[in-house]
Amino acid sequence: MSLKQSPYILYSDGKGNIFEDETLYVTGRSGWDALPIPNDEWIELPDGGSLYELPGRRGIGIDVKTGEMRLCEKGWAVAAFIPPAHSGFYLAAYETAPDAPTLPLFCYTAVGWHKEKTYVPAVRIEPDIRQDCAGYDQKKVETGVKQLLKAYPHNRLVNHLANNCALTYHCPAARNYFLGRWECPIPASPACNANCVGCISLQPDEETIVSTQDRLTFKPTPEEIVEYTVPHLEGAPYPIVSFGQGCEGEPLLMWETIREAIIEIRKHTPKGSININTNGSKPDAVKALCEAGLDSIRVSTNSARREIYMPYYRPNNYDFDDIVESLKVVRDFGGWTSINYFVFPGMTDSEAEYEALRKLIKDTGLCMIQWRNFNIDPDWYLGKIGVSDTGPCMGVKNLQEEIRNEFPNLRYGYFNPPIERIKGNFQIDFAH
Ligand code: SF4
Repeated sequence: MSLKQSPYILYSDGKGNIFEDETLYVTGRSGWDALPIPNDEWIELPDGGSLYELPGRRGIGIDVKTGEMRLCEKGWAVAAFIPPAHSGFYLAAYETAPDAPTLPLFCYTAVGWHKEKTYVPAVRIEPDIRQDCAGYDQKKVETGVKQLLKAYPHNRLVNHLANNCALTYHCPAARNYFLGRWECPIPASPACNANCVGCISLQPDEETIVSTQDRLTFKPTPEEIVEYTVPHLEGAPYPIVSFGQGCEGEPLLMWETIREAIIEIRKHTPKGSININTNGSKPDAVKALCEAGLDSIRVSTNSARREIYMPYYRPNNYDFDDIVESLKVVRDFGGWTSINYFVFPGMTDSEAEYEALRKLIKDTGLCMIQWRNFNIDPDWYLGKIGVSDTGPCMGVKNLQEEIRNEFPNLRYGYFNPPIERIKGNFQIDFAH
């Protein structure tokens, strides 16, 4: 669907009230540049999306009469948080005042107003409905929490998933566990061997922003892991159990515990997929987990280029090449491999990144790209990794099309696929 004209810019009065300015068309940000957004790249803001006012920032628009780019002086800039399963093509474009506060760890997608509706430049990249907000009934979640806390009174992990993840952070994965469906989280590690600039579970005291959840404080036992995951694999539709969650450090630092758990799980059930979300830092540990029965891996990265990866992840004792090796190891065992690709318009769609991504896909035999919106303040991110010029870019939409054309067997999405999609018909009809 293509809009007949560009949407108008939005601004906020600083009190949470948002208005349109019909003297300015909205622009989109790519790297450090503000650009017009093509009319065929807009969709209505999906259910579950929300709008943010950006203090200390003025939106950049295109004057409806003159076609000149200028600031919206009527109020603060506005951005959209687009819900999971959707991939954003442009960031919100604005000028930042010197004393503006660093923005918290959310994604800031461009947003505009057209014929009484809110629009964002994005696409639904994942048909799986597992985190659609319409699918969550909080009453049923609370009932599930009561039942499973009663069933596992001494299990610290179930307690953590209940009281922290489901009831405090409203984590979609934890809530799905308490609703007895789909992907079940297994946080396992209180520690990490990386120091990501935008770590969502631990931010250094000197930073002004806070992590979106607190890091796990204990080391679960294999018994605690097996106790609640086997019944989930046995009973849930499209069951997956996943090590490596937003509320922990790096699961590979607990690989011996995870290996023991996988071996024990597979003694009880052959069902479902056992997955690990990881920074991919320890290919030897990954090999041991594959030997134990790991089915799939998702390696997180902000880039397919070492020189962009290292200043962001700031690893303690591993290198970018290790994460590439971990992807190869799982393919060698016939396992499913995904990258959790943090999409940043102007970086991800740069020509240099495009070439590096093509090489990574070829070198590793990658199965899937999960196109994740990067939850980070754009100025802060580019400043921290020292990027002042992103180089020529092709547009995120165009990048996704080019890669899809060159690698027709490469799957796109946002979530780890169940074994039914990995081994069977990948295009499962989730609507029914
Ligand atoms: S790998 Fe994960 S837990 Fe470790 S620093 Fe990065 S975001 Fe944080």
